[in-house]
Amino acid sequence: MDDATNPRLWHSAVPNRAVKRSGFRKLAFWFSRLPSIAWQTALEHRAIRVAKRQRWREFELFDYEVLEEEQRPIAKVVEALLLIEQLDPRRYRRIAHDVPRILVARANGARYWFVTNTCLLDLNELERDSTGMTALAIVHEAIHARLARQGIFSWPHLRYRIERRCVAEERTLVDLLRHAGWEGTEKVAAWLDSSLQTPWWAQKKSLGRRRNSP
Ligand SMILES: [Zn+2]
Repeated sequence: MDDATNPRLWHSAVPNRAVKRSGFRKLAFWFSRLPSIAWQTALEHRAIRVAKRQRWREFELFDYEVLEEEQRPIAKVVEALLLIEQLDPRRYRRIAHDVPRILVARANGARYWFVTNTCLLDLNELERDSTGMTALAIVHEAIHARLARQGIFSWPHLRYRIERRCVAEERTLVDLLRHAGWEGTEKVAAWLDSSLQTPWWAQKKSLGRRRNSP
């Protein structure tokens, strides 16, 4: 069990007084977020309803954009999932269990949609990135899904640890890619190692962390 999943450490970053009020803090936090949660709920359900859906093994894959026939983002998602399965079958099974919905749309970066338990992949990144980088994005968002299943959401005081955990899991996959002979993994590893120094999650308007990826 690491820091992000160990409940005894959840509050170690905040003073004792705050720990005692943590129930109230959580309630206040959710209450303050109600308008954005309502908006997020509507957004996610609409996207799921409108997008073109297809089944692939255990997954439901959604294509939100209307594209030419030769642009096949879902094919790249499938390639990335197969790559994860090939390198780390156990992780693949966990992803299929934790977040069996993946939706592709133009967005400001990949993210996890907690209302509908969906991994959102940014089409802009998908078009630009290799299959390996797409696999990393899925691994990252799948950790958010796994933590959410355990009741660990992105509380502001936990956010750094949660992101650190997601990046660490990406790093594990990069090592597997390197062993499998992928090129450029050193650059990706260096980028991952430095990425936590810029808290992209705290920026008011997320510009998509992967926009600066190698
Ligand atoms: Zn994240």
